Amino acid sequence: MLIGHKKQWDFLAKSAEAGHLPHALLFYGQEHLGKKTFAIEFAKYISCLDKKSGIPCQKCINCISIRKNLFPDFLIVEPELLSKEIQIFQIRGLIEKLSFRPYSAKIKITVLAKAHLMSQEAQNCFLKFLEEPLGEALIILITEHPYSLLPTILSRIQKIKFFPVGSENIKKFLAEKGAGERALSEILPFVSGKPGLAVDFFEAPEKLKERKKFMLDLGELARADLAFRFKYAENIAGDSFDFAKRKEILGIWVECLRNLLLSRFERGEKREEKFSHYSINKIEEEIKLLQEIDSLISGTNINVRLAFEILLMKL
Ligand SMILES: [Zn+2]
Repeated sequence: MLIGHKKQWDFLAKSAEAGHLPHALLFYGQEHLGKKTFAIEFAKYISCLDKKSGIPCQKCINCISIRKNLFPDFLIVEPELLSKEIQIFQIRGLIEKLSFRPYSAKIKITVLAKAHLMSQEAQNCFLKFLEEPLGEALIILITEHPYSLLPTILSRIQKIKFFPVGSENIKKFLAEKGAGERALSEILPFVSGKPGLAVDFFEAPEKLKERKKFMLDLGELARADLAFRFKYAENIAGDSFDFAKRKEILGIWVECLRNLLLSRFERGEKREEKFSHYSINKIEEEIKLLQEIDSLISGTNINVRLAFEILLMKL
């Protein structure tokens, strides 16, 4: 089910009805906004045998097969691990599959998640698909880092931006899933307009607990001595944290600081105790540094412990 993103939906549904869909779309915006869910719902809509009022019926054989990822004209490609690149053979395989006529739907649809993880060769191969598109095929690229894609891809693809969703939409969705007032008041302050997080926190409350812990850690680190910071860096670089978890922590901290920045602008000089020594400039610098460390640990073989030591020393 779709939460929010109505403008994007109406635009694409109208394009599909008018027969004006391009061969490739790029869905971009922050993580956890529901871009992949949107793409799956859109694939249902295009293939649905009984669509009504601009939405898929969810009940026909095509809608059900897509939900179960068993539909022959629908494919999701994503890297096995977040630390792995999407290789050229995966893109070649995908294009080959798209070259066959659809089995039963009007068009074949492929969703390529985490598209920024395509290697240079994979991106060049994908570019050829964009230059000579196949007939009855649609590829939807999904990414939170559009500028990691080749400029030649970006200039040839129709881009659809996704934004955080209004709190009321998320609240309504969670209430329909059975969340009570207490769960809602615990979850909503921590989702920042991201339906994916809301669903995660509702289905696995330990994830919310963990997120709160990392948020508290940031406040503690901001006031900690060097010994504590080095110990923390050593711990994060250790075996109990993997690549995805380290990236998640960096993401949580960026979001914390963005919210801090926002509250400074909204509430003027009133300062949160733990970050009272942070100026607006300092917060902006920290956000930039966190993003740099994120791309360093993603794209290079940098020593992870060293990267976190540099980060935590400057916090
Ligand atoms: Zn249907």
